[in-house]
Amino acid sequence: MERIVVAGAGTMGAGIAHATAQHGFPTVLIDVNEACLDRALAVIDTNLSRQAKKGVIEMGTEPDVLARIETTTEFAPALESADMLIEAVPEKMETKREIFELADRRAPPGAILASNTSSISITSLGAFTSRPGSVIGMHFMNPVPVMKLVEVVRGLATDDDTVDAVVGLTRRLAKTPVEVSDFPGFVSNRVLMPMINEAVFALMEGVADADSIDDVMRLGMNHPLGPLALADLIGLDVCLNILGVLHDQLGDDRYRPCPLLRKHVEAGWLGRKSGRGFHAYSASGR
Ligand code: NAD
Repeated sequence: MERIVVAGAGTMGAGIAHATAQHGFPTVLIDVNEACLDRALAVIDTNLSRQAKKGVIEMGTEPDVLARIETTTEFAPALESADMLIEAVPEKMETKREIFELADRRAPPGAILASNTSSISITSLGAFTSRPGSVIGMHFMNPVPVMKLVEVVRGLATDDDTVDAVVGLTRRLAKTPVEVSDFPGFVSNRVLMPMINEAVFALMEGVADADSIDDVMRLGMNHPLGPLALADLIGLDVCLNILGVLHDQLGDDRYRPCPLLRKHVEAGWLGRKSGRGFHAYSASGR
C-alpha cells in the first residue's frame, strides 16, 4: 500500500494526511473547498515545526514531509491511482454515501476504502459499494499526529485481508491498532460519551459545579482532562450528535442526552470553538 488519498481536509483529514506523509506515504488531500486545503497545509506546517522543535521528527525534514502531500479539489482523478482512501468528510450519511459510491466506481480493484467516522455504520458504508469486503473503519483520535490509538472497525462484510492491511498500515504510522466490531460508537465513544453525559447530569442536578466535577475526575481518577473540559474540547454539538446516535441505535435510555447538554447546544455554547461551553475560553485558553 503506497498511495493514500485522504478525503476532507478539516481537523481530522489534515491530521491524517500529516501522519501518512510523515511516515513516507505519498498522500493526496482532497476537499471541496480550496480554502480548507490551504488552511490544512498551514496547520500541518505549524505542527511539523512543533514536532521538529520537540525532536519528534528530525529538524530540517519538514519540507520533505510537506512535499509528499498533494492537494486537489478533483476527487475522481485522484482516486484512480489510490491504493487506499481514508475518508474524513463531515459526519453526514449522504455526504459519506456519495464519496463511497464514487470511490467504488473510480478506485482500482484491490484499493481499501476506509472511513474515519465516529458513529456511522461501516457495514452501511460497505453496502453502498460493490466491494464491502474492502470497506473498513479507521477511527483516528484527535489530535491525530499525537494520539496513538486507531480503532480498526470491522464491518459485517469486511475481509480479513482488509483488516490485516489496515492493522499493518496503522503500525507503519507508529500508532496502535485496536480491532473492534461495527457497533454504534465502537468502544471509544460508547464508553466515553456516557461518562461525559453523566457529568452533565451531575452538573444539572447541582451535585457540584463544573470545576469541581472536573477536579474529581482529574485528581481522583488521574484523567488528564475532566469530562466537562473534554466535552468542551470535542464540541458539545458533536457530543450531542454521538449520544443521539447511541440512543437511537442501541435503544437504551442510559444513552439519553442530558437536557442541559441540549440546552447548551441550543444556546450556541458549543465549547472551545465558540468560546463558551461548560467553561469559558479566551483566545489564550481557559
Ligand atoms: P471538519 O468539519 O473539521 O472537516 C470536514 C472537511 O470535509 C471540511 O474541510 C469540508 O470542507 C470537507 N468536505 C465536505 N464535503 C466534502 C466532500 N464531499 N468531499 C471532500 N471534502 C468534503 O470535520 P472533522 O472534525 O475533521 O471530522 C471528519 C470526520 O472525522 C467525521 O466523520 C467525524 O465524525 C470524524 N472524527 C472526528 C473527530 C474529531 O475529534 N473532530 C475524531 C474522530 C473522528
